[in-house]
Amino acid sequence: MVNKYFYRALALREFYFSGKLSTTDLSDRMGKSIPHVMKVIDDLLSDGSIVESGYAPSSGGRRPVTYAIRQDAMYVLSVAMDQVFTRIALLDMGNRPVAPVRELELPLSNNPEAIIQLKDTIKEVVAEAGIPRERIVGAGIGMPGFVDFENGINYSFTFSGSKTITEYLTDELGMPVYIDNDSSLIALAELHFGAARDKKNVTVINIGWGIGLGMILNGELFRGHDGFAGEFSHIPVFNNNKLCSCGKSGCLETEASLLVVIEKAINGLRSGRLSTLGADFSTGHSQADWEAIVKAAHRGDRFVVELLSQTAYDIGKAVAILIHLMNPQSVVLSGRGTTAGKVWEAPVQQALNEHTIPRLAANTQLAISTLGYQAELIGAVALVMENRVKEYKLNQKRYAHLHETRNITIYENYQMGVIAAGRTNAAGFFSVNLPVYEGPCGIQSATIWERSNLFRPAGRTTLQ
Ligand SMILES: [Zn+2]
Repeated sequence: MVNKYFYRALALREFYFSGKLSTTDLSDRMGKSIPHVMKVIDDLLSDGSIVESGYAPSSGGRRPVTYAIRQDAMYVLSVAMDQVFTRIALLDMGNRPVAPVRELELPLSNNPEAIIQLKDTIKEVVAEAGIPRERIVGAGIGMPGFVDFENGINYSFTFSGSKTITEYLTDELGMPVYIDNDSSLIALAELHFGAARDKKNVTVINIGWGIGLGMILNGELFRGHDGFAGEFSHIPVFNNNKLCSCGKSGCLETEASLLVVIEKAINGLRSGRLSTLGADFSTGHSQADWEAIVKAAHRGDRFVVELLSQTAYDIGKAVAILIHLMNPQSVVLSGRGTTAGKVWEAPVQQALNEHTIPRLAANTQLAISTLGYQAELIGAVALVMENRVKEYKLNQKRYAHLHETRNITIYENYQMGVIAAGRTNAAGFFSVNLPVYEGPCGIQSATIWERSNLFRPAGRTTLQ
């Protein structure tokens, strides 16, 4: 039996992604009857998770009331990592940070302790934000590299300990943790909140220290067989004999990443190119250097505009390959690089004009992200909102095979609710009868969070 906690999570997900919804809209999205959905709405209204939000536009009859999720109904811990820098933010249901975004230098290469530093900083951020712990429903983390999103493993970086990244962080932080590739999260953000919204087939290019790709096919993020789809940075498009970080040469990333832009700018200045790039450039810190380049681009610095145009053109050549393969409705340029703005657009379009068959590209629009550097943080929230529903369903399946009971006070994944029916005792504790697995198949062990009066895990019981 799927219980009401699942439908609450499902309805909240729909409100989070869609903004305002009427009862009919929600019924369509949840695939449940109007009376069922009205019950869920009443429940969410009564505990303040959603609020009435005016009337929907008239479609002839009486205008229906719409509802929206309360921005402070819950929060998600959002982490956006790249090879060197990590941002940590606590976002509300309007994707707005509720405390200053913490930024730290955290190199991932040859740094197995990075995960410990990440965990410590996340704990600090949560403590400083002053948001009650039970209101934070999970953590979403975007990281570069080959990320196995299902199993919580990053194959590109080694971290200390025997647990997977998600096991370790879930245990340490006491909340569900999900990881995904940074470009996938950026595509997820564009799909739900940005330039790819309401579109079915979109390629999202993540212009960063490398060039990433997120593919939206039929309205969903496409991850590939092992979850590694979209390694755009390493397609061989140049005959430049430049060694790439992957060990090969001629990869897109060898000419067209932001690191290369910085390097070319340094070399250009050395060889006497005129530019307004000043003392804030060539600091040895890629982040500061990139910001200096963005400022120069916004002032119309000719040298910088030329450099970015060349890079954009090179990216466009590679995008032409994608258009031939995928025939997308839209190509969205997103990620850190798009802070430089419009300067990307014309050269990419020029490359597309030169390198794609007109028939194929005729209806493909080129768009620059409006989410920009925030995209990955927003995508991490979307990841959590997606998965708390999926996980709940998964647990329902897992525990459907259980039989025999013993008394224990449990809840699972915080606001997702309990996994078995129970009752509230006089002290306000929720107690349930936990079915214990005994058969030869099904789950071998489960981690059960015991609920204390502080609404956090008081202890754990592992079923063997
Ligand atoms: Zn490469």
